[in-house]
Amino acid sequence: MAARGPVVVVGAGLSGLSAAIHLAAGGREVVVVEARDGPGGCCGSANLGPYRFDTGPSVLTMPDVLAGTFGAAGQDIGGRLPLRRLDPFYRLSFHDGSHLDVVPGAERMAENVRGLCGPDEAARYLRFRRRLGAMFEAEWSSFIDADMTRLRSMARPMALLRLAAAGGFRRLDRFVAGRLTDKRLVMAHTFQALYVGLPPAKALAIYAVIAHMDTVGGVYVPVGGGMNAIPNALAATAEKAGAAIRYGVRAERVETDTSGVSAVRLDTGERLRADHAVIACDLMHAHRGLLPEEAADWRLRRPHFSPSCLVAHIGLDRRPSGRAHHTLHFGREWKAASAALAAGRPQPDPSLLVTCPEDDPTAAPSGRATLSVLEPAPNTASGADWDRLAPRLEQRLLERLAGLGYGDLSDRPRLLFDPPAWERLGHSAGTPFALDHRFGQTAWLRPSGRSRRVPGLHFAGMYTAPGVGVPPALISGRLAAARILEGRR
Ligand SMILES: Cc1cc2nc3c(=O)[nH]c(=O)nc-3n(C[C@H](O)[C@H](O)[C@H](O)COP(=O)(O)OP(=O)(O)OC[C@H]3O[C@@H](n4cnc5c(N)ncnc54)[C@H](O)[C@@H]3O)c2cc1C
Repeated sequence: MAARGPVVVVGAGLSGLSAAIHLAAGGREVVVVEARDGPGGCCGSANLGPYRFDTGPSVLTMPDVLAGTFGAAGQDIGGRLPLRRLDPFYRLSFHDGSHLDVVPGAERMAENVRGLCGPDEAARYLRFRRRLGAMFEAEWSSFIDADMTRLRSMARPMALLRLAAAGGFRRLDRFVAGRLTDKRLVMAHTFQALYVGLPPAKALAIYAVIAHMDTVGGVYVPVGGGMNAIPNALAATAEKAGAAIRYGVRAERVETDTSGVSAVRLDTGERLRADHAVIACDLMHAHRGLLPEEAADWRLRRPHFSPSCLVAHIGLDRRPSGRAHHTLHFGREWKAASAALAAGRPQPDPSLLVTCPEDDPTAAPSGRATLSVLEPAPNTASGADWDRLAPRLEQRLLERLAGLGYGDLSDRPRLLFDPPAWERLGHSAGTPFALDHRFGQTAWLRPSGRSRRVPGLHFAGMYTAPGVGVPPALISGRLAAARILEGRR
């Protein structure tokens, strides 16, 4: 008979919360244990004086995935967490002084491309855009939204053939450069490789679908409360559906008996009986004590970590005018910069993602504002001397911002998250982006969502498939819950 006992979810990040909602809505008894004092994990929040900053994601794509998570518990996202679509989604600012606003709608977007690159490139852009859409359709159900622990997901030759025919297994940079000619437009559709931890010359073209997700599908933000409103609303939904969430407690050991998972022991000394456990946290750490040895996954034997990032959160004394919510300032040497990062060195002339949230009374007092700047940076496994490097990069970041017209921000209150800070927060190799998405760490080759040797042990989160990011984390939680609700151990 299928086990119907309690489920313990370790981690109240987005993946753990998603698993908890689906499980509780499916009628299971669920306890989520979270080491920190609130939900969200990477999708966190930090305060500095009168300012509040979102310390994690700022680019929310695929809002239907989030809506589906609330929907599993019978809640309408419109009532629970209204979202606003940004316009522009991004402003892409190039080193030659030109910029491209990535806007909703094929015609409006083609108009912007026409203005920047001419009518021929705009025609090529529209063809490319259709191609991205077809690739996304081919990938969604067979790779992104598919449970890689199931045999039927592995046996999809037609899906693989369709993707191969669409060019999905070529390199991203060549795939895009074969269809667009303006360097700036190529950059606009390849920078997303950074989101999967790879330079465009190393990422597979299947990851061009990220460009479809954000430049076509659009970028959203919660109407109030910033990105941190997402985990807060998810946690409230999980609790309403019947899950118990315990903050400030750490899971120390998943216990097993002859039939598989039997309990989860906490740092309080308590033992929570469990038929299933969903491990929704950093898997490298989990395999160093939390999990039984039989749970070892060969895919984690030689992990390749994503680069990390340096993020400066700055409190401003006035609202900047004429700035988009998201501006990506490309460096001059875009190719060399991504190659340096892949080699574990800081980018010589980094590209910066600047987030300038529009009016959000939870972020800054009236008339003031916040600015968050993300610079991709090597992780701590690269061997860099971060004690020396961090102040140097911070200084360079401030100078670059001044050069980009943000003014002298050196005396403004600020918070800095560098790779050692990410490590202190519990992220292996000092990167909050887990494993990169090279071929050998993609789909079936990413750490499994289920232990083959320990019945009842499931995994969710960015270390598993589909991977890093808000929608993938939510999907992985749903997939883990679905297996458990079906009675799979
Ligand atoms: C700076 C930054 C920018 C980002 N930008 C974007 C973006 O723009 N768009 C996007 O889609 N994604 C972005 N991401 C990625 C995205 O936020 C993550 O991939 C996603 O939130 C990961 O969720 P998770 O549930 O897998 O893991 P986590 O968020 O890491 O959650 C794991 C949780 O487990 C807890 N935990 C760990 N060990 C234990 C234990 N033993 N017991 C109890 N609890 C434990 C941790 O405290 C944590 O809360 C960004 C991330 C960062 C950090």
